[in-house]
Amino acid sequence: MLLVKNGRVLDPATQTDAPRDVLLDGDKIVEVAQPGKLSQDKSPEIFDATGLIVAPGFIDLHAHLREPGQESSETIATGTLAAARGGFTAVCCMPNTRPVNDNASVTRFILDRAKASAHVRVWPIGAASTGSNGEAISEIAAMKQAGIVAVSDDGKPIATAKLTRQVMDYCRSLDLPVIEHSEDISLAAGAAMREGVTSTRLGLPGMPAAAESVCVARDVQLAELTGARLHVAHLSAKASLEQVRWAKSRGLRVTCEVTPHHFTLMDEDVQYDSRFKMNPPLAAREDREALIAGLADGSVDAIATDHAPHEPALKDVEFDRAPFGILGFETALALALEQLVNSGRLSLMRMIELFTTGPARVLSIERKISAGQPADLTIFSTTREWTYDVKLSPSKSRNSPFDARTFKGGPVATIVAGQIVHKM
Ligand SMILES: [Zn+2]
Repeated sequence: MLLVKNGRVLDPATQTDAPRDVLLDGDKIVEVAQPGKLSQDKSPEIFDATGLIVAPGFIDLHAHLREPGQESSETIATGTLAAARGGFTAVCCMPNTRPVNDNASVTRFILDRAKASAHVRVWPIGAASTGSNGEAISEIAAMKQAGIVAVSDDGKPIATAKLTRQVMDYCRSLDLPVIEHSEDISLAAGAAMREGVTSTRLGLPGMPAAAESVCVARDVQLAELTGARLHVAHLSAKASLEQVRWAKSRGLRVTCEVTPHHFTLMDEDVQYDSRFKMNPPLAAREDREALIAGLADGSVDAIATDHAPHEPALKDVEFDRAPFGILGFETALALALEQLVNSGRLSLMRMIELFTTGPARVLSIERKISAGQPADLTIFSTTREWTYDVKLSPSKSRNSPFDARTFKGGPVATIVAGQIVHKM
């Protein structure tokens, strides 16, 4: 048993914001009570959360753990340790491994590896098409049986409207969300960053915002046609958010996520340094402003990291030759506190919702601090000053533009199934 004592419980599901003791027994929460008022008088292990926030366990809808196949960049063990340090209790891993997670045997392999080596829960996402090559639908039903929580061809969009429709029809009957990396390949071809003044100045090929929003427009209309659950991954453009708002206003089952780097940085911040290269690329000032407004008003459902490790040998090359993607787990909460809460744009409760009940709803599950629920908790400080040193990351990769940034507030302890998997 573990007693998390004297913390300030902030739980969006029950709208609780009060001092509470939370008693965990095995992998379940057994009691939540006012400090010192628990009905059981056992003597469990105690975690003193005085001065700290106790939130439901954070869920990351979007991560790349690179196993199987690219273990020199990350493994399930190293990636989930970084996730635990970032306060995440569950991570959804994208299927663009080698081999691609497009059939039940790969799904089972990932879950077996997770059982043996993971520090937090690992929820695999299956490929929408075989090999994610956009030609034939993958074995979605068999993968669902094996344990996938969604499908996606992330890294690229589902290739055609016709195949997207087929995948959506199929996923609707299985009640699985279709997570889309929205990108019009023809508009994005050859681009290394967002098209604009900065891309011109750096002499880098750019893609317009429409490279994303054209695909979002396609997909929300197909969601209407099929009745499927569509989740737009790493939404970065104002025009894409307008499509999502349109879809929500029509009652479609459309959700979206935004990454910390997209609500923190802009294309004007891009330096000739591959740690600023990700896809979708850092967007314009007005996009960032729109994303923060969407995070505040409920148009955005979740904050997701798109944790995308690449070993130094891959990333230490010319900007236009480097792969897309940056690390995300360990800086996500601190960036959200800095950019959204300390700036006065979002309440702490709303920020927590974007890491907990928001992503849980996308997956059609519950996340709350009450008796009978899984014993997953994220405990963090809003005041602790710390500096991110990427050299100390348990990740096998070092590709973060936030190295050496100083933060106010961040993760302190992460509890998964009643076990403390990370503690400062
Ligand atoms: Zn993607």
